[in-house]
Amino acid sequence: MKETTCKKLQEIGAFALAGGCTRKRMNQLVEMIRAARDYRWMAIYKIIKDEFVILAETGNEPPAYPRFPITQGLCGAALESGEPIIDSRSFCVGEILVRKTSTGGFALSHRDDKATDQLKIFRSAEDAIDIAKHDDAGNYRPLKTAPKLRHGWRLDLETLEDLRRALDYFYPGRLAMFAAWKSDKLQITPLRETLERQSGMYRAAARISDSQINDVVADFCRSNGGCLRTILWKRDAEEVIASTKLPKEKFDPAYDQMMASKPPGSPTPATAPIPATIPLLCQEACNLLIAECRKVMKGE
Ligand code: SF4
Repeated sequence: MKETTCKKLQEIGAFALAGGCTRKRMNQLVEMIRAARDYRWMAIYKIIKDEFVILAETGNEPPAYPRFPITQGLCGAALESGEPIIDSRSFCVGEILVRKTSTGGFALSHRDDKATDQLKIFRSAEDAIDIAKHDDAGNYRPLKTAPKLRHGWRLDLETLEDLRRALDYFYPGRLAMFAAWKSDKLQITPLRETLERQSGMYRAAARISDSQINDVVADFCRSNGGCLRTILWKRDAEEVIASTKLPKEKFDPAYDQMMASKPPGSPTPATAPIPATIPLLCQEACNLLIAECRKVMKGE
């Protein structure tokens, strides 16, 4: 075990032993654990009769199920087996859920279709091109990271290379950007620089004012109905935030933008933990946003 991990465990252990089990201390304890491992959420449940009942949690949003039967979810499975359960069999990229299969392959589907059996089966990475092309209503999707991926399909793939190819068709370039960002090699371009570079009919976009940018970005890039990417770029070289009208989570790669794309009041149930999520990063304003800036300047 790493020295830093040992130290953190000692700190957490000392904190747990030093005080009583008041709600305040338990809330502090779960936050210490969450922060130590950079988890998105952490909670302590107690078994009362035949239910798991939440005692302490991180964050301000209550879970959908603060209590649930001891036979359900990963908690129920952990109780039954007497072993910790780590769900490393699945992860998410944008709207896509990737599950490892028992044969060593991968099954991809829309995250909303996780519990659906009646799905149309595809078997080639190249099928992702067609699946990603239109939304549920048959409309063309010019922005592949818009939260409008169609439902009702499952893509079964045999190899990791197939998986990489398929994800690149669904979300072009996003895996490469994520890898570059993880290794601190991602080049990030401020919006004003991207605007200044435009030529021809798009030159007009560069005349957009700061307050107009604030509005356009908030409307066009929002995760709820706009785009699921996490914005890394700033408005200009002075590092001004892209839009003060977007929630701070829109700029946080650790945040799952799909959560923001759901209507208020539909949090993920506590019995169905969210798999690890690879963020779709936006390192530079896309052509569609530039076109939107131009439209504002042209009064279209
Ligand atoms: S600029 Fe980035 S976040 Fe905004 S719509 Fe384009 S790709 Fe999405």
